[in-house]
Amino acid sequence: MSTPPPFPPPIAPRLYKSESMGTGCLVQGLGLVGGPVIGAVLAPHLGIFGWVIGGGLAIALLIQGSGMAKYCLCGSCHNRLTSHKVTVCPACHAQLR
Ligand SMILES: [Zn+2]
Repeated sequence: MSTPPPFPPPIAPRLYKSESMGTGCLVQGLGLVGGPVIGAVLAPHLGIFGWVIGGGLAIALLIQGSGMAKYCLCGSCHNRLTSHKVTVCPACHAQLR
């Protein structure tokens, strides 16, 4: 039994979710481990700049990971939205608010 797509498009709330385990967490872990490792590898060659690059990479990954840990879902079909600015669900065309 299949349900046809609703028409006109429904108005659906935007659901905010955050994942404790997932890609964002993985990226943050990568930053925490990879940053110091890269710093330690580069430091003998570049001195303080090695640590700056490693630390910068760690911070960039931590910020990136925390952003990825939060995401939006369509309230109608629970499709994951690519950004918070999406106004129409690409899957079910519901208007998001
Ligand atoms: Zn949807």
